[in-house]
Amino acid sequence: TAGKVAPEDIEPLSKKSFPLCMRNLHETLRQEHHLRHGGRMQYGLFLKGIGLQLEDALRFWRSEFTKMMDGDKFDKSYSYNIRHNYGKEGKRTDYTPYSCMKVIMTNAPAAGDHHGCPFRHTDPELLKQRLQGYRVNSAGVQEIVDLVKGGHYQLACTKYFEITHNVDDAGFGLNHPNQYFEESQKVLN
Ligand code: SF4
Repeated sequence: TAGKVAPEDIEPLSKKSFPLCMRNLHETLRQEHHLRHGGRMQYGLFLKGIGLQLEDALRFWRSEFTKMMDGDKFDKSYSYNIRHNYGKEGKRTDYTPYSCMKVIMTNAPAAGDHHGCPFRHTDPELLKQRLQGYRVNSAGVQEIVDLVKGGHYQLACTKYFEITHNVDDAGFGLNHPNQYFEESQKVLN
């Protein structure tokens, strides 16, 4: 299904076609040059799902992490995990990217974590600010926040999709971050 994505494609794609959960993880990685385990799993498997190949994934994560640590430490402590996600280590299971339900319902982020679903796990005031920062107009922000308050996280995410893609009706039932990405690419390409 997914085409091939190169490391240098990720930054522009993150702005246009990533759902908020993944855009948030990407921006955090770029700012802090690090993500904790939950974030590496959620984001790493998503990137695999959009078509980032193993060797490119290693290059991508290495280039960020080595802004903060030497390459040796990265190779020893982190590359195993990435290879593992691609089924190259351990039980050689080919791990699949997390669904919205998994992100929303399990492994809630603690302080200092950046994984999870922003519609479910981010403080509503902070969420509002972030949406405004992404140029969602105030009516749109209000609609999204109302859906969040009703516990309709995936509908809130769908509303964000509709606003940022300038469509009245997304026309799909959102259940997976990679589905969000693919639907976005359909609209934009
Ligand atoms: Fe990500 Fe799904 Fe939450 Fe949207 S609803 S931000 S795709 S986990």
